[in-house]
Amino acid sequence: MNNTLESSDIKPSKLKTENQQTATTIPFYKPIAKEVEVFDHAYKNKIQVLLKGPTGTGKTRFIDFMTHQLNKKLITISCHEETSSTDLIGRYIIQGSETVWIDGPLTQAVKTGAIIYLDEIAEARPDVIVAIHSLTDHRKELYIDKLGETIKAHPDFMLVASFNPGYQKGFKELKPSTRQRFIALAFNYPNEKDEAEILSNETQIDAATAKKLVSIATKIRNLTELGLTETVSTRLLVDAAKLIHTGLGKRLAVRVAVVEPLTDDLEITEALADLCDLMI
Ligand code: ADP
Repeated sequence: MNNTLESSDIKPSKLKTENQQTATTIPFYKPIAKEVEVFDHAYKNKIQVLLKGPTGTGKTRFIDFMTHQLNKKLITISCHEETSSTDLIGRYIIQGSETVWIDGPLTQAVKTGAIIYLDEIAEARPDVIVAIHSLTDHRKELYIDKLGETIKAHPDFMLVASFNPGYQKGFKELKPSTRQRFIALAFNYPNEKDEAEILSNETQIDAATAKKLVSIATKIRNLTELGLTETVSTRLLVDAAKLIHTGLGKRLAVRVAVVEPLTDDLEITEALADLCDLMI
């Protein structure tokens, strides 16, 4: 039997799944375009959805919001380069003198009709993509090779994945044959008014400071000549706003939350810090 593990070998951190969604309050999500409407229809049709866009643009918040709104259980897998189909589908473990099969999060979602969110799917090992193929076409079934079983997906099962097209360098691209199994929603930085509203809602920061933070982000996002791998995300602005709201000096907050995470180049750091100091 391959991949048989002692139960003590299974470290919860390895999988990084987050089984959430009980009757908690709906998280705040500011719609940027028609994504809520599109997702509603995708759910009605159980069509897989790919959320694509740079980091920190609200993809995770969106799926959290949608699953709450639809009153669905969400199972999140943060994919990384070691995430394999075994992690998703399940494995045998040894418990005392017995060998017991444990369903992985994907199998649980397929059986119970949950929404599974494969965050950063392109990071996962290729066998993950192979494993989801039969779930993403007309078959809607999961093949568990170690059990020799095929499971029909629960009618409410839905698969959602995210993908950041920015930093994948060649080998981390998603193949067209995979991409075309999903409809895709593009996420990007919100317009200035919406982004300021997000900052105010997330942190209760005053409107004037929220506006200044957004202006700084817009300015830096337009400085394409800096060649930054990724630019200022809404997440970084939220962090800066939180620090300011709890009383950290504005310039310092912007430096540590906005400027420093973007680059390690000293000249660029200083240039950006000077620019921000003038604007905040
Ligand atoms: P991603 O999954 O795209 O990397 P997240 O969903 O984690 O990004 O977003 C990062 C943070 O930015 C969120 O925790 C939230 O505070 C904020 N945010 C971004 N976009 C929105 C939005 N449209 N509505 C509400 N909050 C948002």
